[in-house]
Amino acid sequence: MTETEAKERIGSLREKIRYYSKKYYEEDAPELSDAEYDRLFYELIALEKEFPQFDDPASPSKHVGGKALDKFEKVTHAVQMGSLTDVFSFEELEAFLARTAEEMASVGRTAEYSVECKIDGLSVSLEYENGKFVRGSTRGDGFVGENVTQNLRTITSIPMDIGHPEIPRLEVRGEVYMPRDRFEALNREREENEESLFANPRNAAAGSLRQLDPMITAARRLDIFIFNVQASEGIQFTEHVQSLDWLEEAGFSVIPYRMVTSDKDAILDKIREIGSMRENLPFDIDGVVIKLNSLADRSFLGETASTPKWAVAYKFPPEVKETKLLDIVVQVGRTGVLTPNAVLSPVRLAGTSVSRATLHNIDFIRERDIRIGDMVYVQKAGDIIPGVLRVNKDKRTGGEVEYEMPRCCPSCGEPVFRDAAEAATRCTNAACPAQLLRALAHFVSRDAMNIDGLGTAVLKQLRDEGLVKSPADLYDLRAEQIEALDRMGKKSAENFINAVENSKTAGLDRLIYALGIPGIGQKAGQTLAKAFGDIEALFRADQAALVAVDDIGEITADSIISFFSHPQTRLLIDRLRAAGVLMQYETHSAGTELAGLTFVLTGTLPTMKREEASALIEAHGGKTSSSVSKKTSYVLAGTEAGSKLTKAQSLGIPVIGEEELLNMIK
Ligand code: NAD
Repeated sequence: MTETEAKERIGSLREKIRYYSKKYYEEDAPELSDAEYDRLFYELIALEKEFPQFDDPASPSKHVGGKALDKFEKVTHAVQMGSLTDVFSFEELEAFLARTAEEMASVGRTAEYSVECKIDGLSVSLEYENGKFVRGSTRGDGFVGENVTQNLRTITSIPMDIGHPEIPRLEVRGEVYMPRDRFEALNREREENEESLFANPRNAAAGSLRQLDPMITAARRLDIFIFNVQASEGIQFTEHVQSLDWLEEAGFSVIPYRMVTSDKDAILDKIREIGSMRENLPFDIDGVVIKLNSLADRSFLGETASTPKWAVAYKFPPEVKETKLLDIVVQVGRTGVLTPNAVLSPVRLAGTSVSRATLHNIDFIRERDIRIGDMVYVQKAGDIIPGVLRVNKDKRTGGEVEYEMPRCCPSCGEPVFRDAAEAATRCTNAACPAQLLRALAHFVSRDAMNIDGLGTAVLKQLRDEGLVKSPADLYDLRAEQIEALDRMGKKSAENFINAVENSKTAGLDRLIYALGIPGIGQKAGQTLAKAFGDIEALFRADQAALVAVDDIGEITADSIISFFSHPQTRLLIDRLRAAGVLMQYETHSAGTELAGLTFVLTGTLPTMKREEASALIEAHGGKTSSSVSKKTSYVLAGTEAGSKLTKAQSLGIPVIGEEELLNMIK
């Protein structure tokens, strides 16, 4: 690969990884399988190693997780919550074992390892003071997480009092997960209510824990396994397993199937054993973690920026099963895309029963020559809806049937279209009932316009009676019309009218999210609202203006432009505006002293985390950017400031410290 090609590929990988990480960590809605994501991630790491001239501290390869969402209070972790380096083969694992054993031998120590299940959930920290649970938070980006204390209190296996008042402080780390049977029950219930399904138990757990209403979390009945002591006062441990045993005694639910050994073969056997149990465990695991047991040995080996040198995660390859493709049915999505789905003879895969798999689009079916009646290999890479990998052509009998996409929408009967530029087949009928119902359910949902009390059954009635043909029609409904619906009375009709009224001031960020632009989640809704301030500005934005916004990449920009180019979108917005829906972004700003100024942050500030300083700048009307240019007003630099400082100096941009920033906003 030439240098130019490498530069281009690195740039494109970074953009993709940022996009997919945001979907996964911040929106709990992955668009890729973990295995596919890992391939991109490790390709980037390999290229950055081969072409160090393109190294960039802002590269997603050097960061963990996602940003803490603004809807939660932030928690700055006392001890960084890092990630783990993955290995995908025994060969790579043996290299890790050899390296650590050698380093320990150089100081006369024998490396001893703890081997544990790697639970596929989300990482949290639990803090105890004088034995009482006081605070719990998500990992976030490893430094700043989200305060989810009230939600964690609903997990019955988290002890509220560990009966050790003599221990002033204890912080433990664990993995919150959703047991597989609860996950299946939850998705069944959501399917009945026509709500979007969770891709996998991990996303369901993350989505359930990161709720503003603890009652929702409680109803999801999450669970946890603790796997580490982060910090302690009043009790000291010398070994990891000793700390886990102690935690178990103290009433915590501690990571199961663990083992301590110095023997390489015993480690490999344990991995095989856990791998063979994997399918039948009541929870999802995505690998096995191998870590040094002695805490002194761990400090001796130390950490890299985001992962410890004393541990690795051995990731299991995704499970593949063979089953019969009974039929292909088409589903009409919120944006009118017709997705062909495989109806499978049920098969157990990664702990859940699988009877459906996505076939994406007709090109996918043609490329793999998939026919109804074929024996197919399906994969559930611990994630997303299962996919059909390929056909077992040896088992063809000749009776298999080639599939054609329907020419008319299975929901509304109108002809469907296929844009030459994209693989998707669409129903472009804006009044298509299937699309309309999904679009309405999304529009009124809690995180969008939050129009309470409109379950799917009511929305269906509104649609079927012809009262609502677009989200804009919700604003024209009268109380008498609602009252006349099944199971609705005077009170519920009044509540509905109030909720619709309140939604008018929901804000531009929620409105953008509610419109259901493909790829735009809540967080992107906020980002766009902040950046453009007004829906009209977003209408006019071209690709360059969109990608200039932090966190908006080319894929997202294209999706926004295509959405706003539809005449129906224009009509919808005009009608919503006429109904009085707020179309401007209203900041709850602390001041405007920094209006018009752009800051670039670098280095470690004396008291504030960089995220806090950014939030402060934005709350006072300023902007932050990740790179220094002529447009930068100030560079806010702390200790160990890097290349941004040098660049600021060369461009003659003023450099200030934390104290000067604080003076500017006094
Ligand atoms: P990770 O999930 O690979 O490993 C680290 C995590 O393992 C820790 O945060 C910890 O919470 C957890 N863990 C579970 N059991 C443990 C144990 N016994 N000991 C120690 N830790 C344990 O790393 P990550 O940084 O959380 O996420 C990266 C992974 O997330 C990627 O490998 C990828 O598969 C997935 N991902 C997927 C997408 C996607 O679009 N599908 C996007 C981003 C990330």
